[in-house]
Amino acid sequence: MSMMKIWNELLNLFFPSLCVLCHRPLIDGEEQLCLHCSCNLSYTYFDNADTNEVAQLFMGKFPFEKATAMFYYQKGGAVQKLIHALKYHDNQELAYYLGRQAAIRLKQAGFVDDMDVLLPMPLHFSKECKRGYNQAELIAQGMASVLYLPIETSAVKRVVNSSTQTHKEVYERWQNVQNVFVLTEKTKHLQGKHILIVDDVITTGSTIASCAVTCLSISNVRVSMMGIALAHR
Ligand SMILES: [Zn+2]
Repeated sequence: MSMMKIWNELLNLFFPSLCVLCHRPLIDGEEQLCLHCSCNLSYTYFDNADTNEVAQLFMGKFPFEKATAMFYYQKGGAVQKLIHALKYHDNQELAYYLGRQAAIRLKQAGFVDDMDVLLPMPLHFSKECKRGYNQAELIAQGMASVLYLPIETSAVKRVVNSSTQTHKEVYERWQNVQNVFVLTEKTKHLQGKHILIVDDVITTGSTIASCAVTCLSISNVRVSMMGIALAHR
């Protein structure tokens, strides 16, 4: 046993990592979540279904290839706790972990076979400054560690901070998201590529749709969308 391993085991003995949901100490091989909690999450099982509830949000609105989410997000549920932990409690490793788990599932389902690049949903710079990181980017980094795809963060910029729209009606929100994003000058390398836009939670889908439509103005681009969770409305 290497010194490092002995040191880690000692550390774990005195300061065990805890499950982010039930706070029981994690055992060897568990990360972030204990097996019990991770088995009891509300998986959507959309995996490779072409028509699923996420895809239905976008159908007929703009051309896209595929759309999916890994979990259902329910108020007060375990997935909400996970999303809150990564968004507001600075649990950046959890974002990375969830990205990796999502990528493993998507890879098994063949969902990502022809995708070229991951594009985490850009945050408005003021929000990113406040939080210190973009959680979608951490999710994408976790995914990239499984899929070996590049991450694109400089082609699309969020120019409108649309976070204050939570209570508006769905229709109003679809109207409000036009011109939320703009392309920068750095898009040439994306021409002809299939872009997977990555986000944490998809609710009405209007913001991720706006990002997708912005990407579609790059020549010969195809877009797909994925969220860690789909919120029930
Ligand atoms: Zn647990």
